[in-house]
Amino acid sequence: MGFIQISYYFHIDEESRGLFYTLANDAPIGIFYSGPDGIARYVNKALAEIAGYSAEELTGKLWREKIHPDERDAVTELWLAKVHNAEPWHVEFRFQRPDGNDIWVLGHTNPQLDADGKVIGHVGTIMDISERKHREEELKLRIKDRTRELNLQKSALDEHAIVSSADIKGNIIYVNDKFCNISGFSRDELMGQNHKILKSGEHSLEFYEDLWETISSGKVWNGNIKNRKKDGDYYWVDATIVPFLDDQKKPFQYVSIRTDITERMAAIEKAEVANQAKTDFLSSMSHELRTPLNAILGFAQILQLDPRDPLTESQQRKVDNIMNAGEHLLTLINEVLDLAKIESGNMNFSIEDTKITKVVNECLTLVNEMAANRGIKITIPDVDKDMELVRADLTRLKQVVLNLLSNGIKYNCDGGNLIISYDKVAPGMIRVSFKDTGKGISKQRQSELFKAFSRLGKESSEIEGTGIGLVVCKDLIALMGGRIGFESEEDKGSTFWIELPLATN
Ligand code: ADP
Repeated sequence: MGFIQISYYFHIDEESRGLFYTLANDAPIGIFYSGPDGIARYVNKALAEIAGYSAEELTGKLWREKIHPDERDAVTELWLAKVHNAEPWHVEFRFQRPDGNDIWVLGHTNPQLDADGKVIGHVGTIMDISERKHREEELKLRIKDRTRELNLQKSALDEHAIVSSADIKGNIIYVNDKFCNISGFSRDELMGQNHKILKSGEHSLEFYEDLWETISSGKVWNGNIKNRKKDGDYYWVDATIVPFLDDQKKPFQYVSIRTDITERMAAIEKAEVANQAKTDFLSSMSHELRTPLNAILGFAQILQLDPRDPLTESQQRKVDNIMNAGEHLLTLINEVLDLAKIESGNMNFSIEDTKITKVVNECLTLVNEMAANRGIKITIPDVDKDMELVRADLTRLKQVVLNLLSNGIKYNCDGGNLIISYDKVAPGMIRVSFKDTGKGISKQRQSELFKAFSRLGKESSEIEGTGIGLVVCKDLIALMGGRIGFESEEDKGSTFWIELPLATN
């Protein structure tokens, strides 16, 4: 066989020796035996194949030169140390094959001792682990790539956002530079502190309760927070707090990403103040205008009606003009006042169960004469009892219905029709429609509807109006939890509708 007789070392009988060779020669892993000097005395076929040398080339010598230079010294030093201490040797290294390819192997030996405990040799195995090593290398590369990618993303995030992490108690465990810069605290001052350190006192207890309830139940929280800097100044952030969950879906860490919105909030605050000033101005102006206007209308009425001092026909016409113009102005002032009240949130509302049919009928009595004067026929249907009661503010609902009814007459053709209908639409909602047979509204002008002072070209017509009615209607209906809308076709007519919540009983 060309191998040194193994029985020489182990003093085993012929039968065991035969058995050993049969097993070792064909074993699928490398097997070798070396003497106490570390020189291989036996090498099986598999080991020769793994290393790429013949069994003869590996036998009778040290393998030092056949080990990859990177591991050569470490492997041999370890080998010598283990041999010296009669300990097992277990190490991963590369063989340098003669074909130029390296191969990763796992070498393992156990010392063989004689009866006196003296090392008489080492039996070892060599396993080809190149595939596993290859996979490990690939994994390492992938992890490296991913880490690089994550670092890039993190640096991009740090460029833009104020980032921090906190433990489940809200104690800070990480802050980025932006966090330190905006808050004015150093990293050392922040680490381990509770986020409460930034509390501004601006938000209510419920605000923080909602925030904590959301994130501690594993959901993402988003909102604007006013924080306090170290020097007592304030700053606003748009914050997203993301809870990181463990296997039991319980948060173990919170990561907060914030954007500085201090400037935006200052601009909003400024705009709100300006808007409030405008609203205040409009409402006080309207009040101031109403008083003298009522006096003008009152005296014009006295002129019209005083039996002791009847007017001539020409005077009568002039006073009629004063009355018409005055009433128009009064409508305008009232509507502007309504708009101002809605904008400032000062509109007093009392939402209660209201009979929609009663409201429509009452409004009809107010417009019947106007319709009759132009030969317009108004049709009203019977209504199911369960559709009668809606949730609405009576006075304001009347205002809306009256506006839609009078528009259906004002913008109708002489001798036209105005059809009222009631339909159940979405669950729990009723739609009241006012369908006229007027000139309709062209597609191009439809987007101008519901905009203040927009009369869609009617400003130069004889039809009186202010262009505010529909805007007010839209806001009023929205405040009642409803919707307003329309469909219109030029030369065919328009249908304006409102939808309101039905009373539940
Ligand atoms: P006003 O009637 O005082 O002008 P509105 O806000 O009620 O103000 O209506 C705004 C504009 O919408 C009207 O000027 C008119 O051009 C148009 N409009 C409203 N209702 C109708 C309708 N039923 N048919 C055609 N146009 C309408």
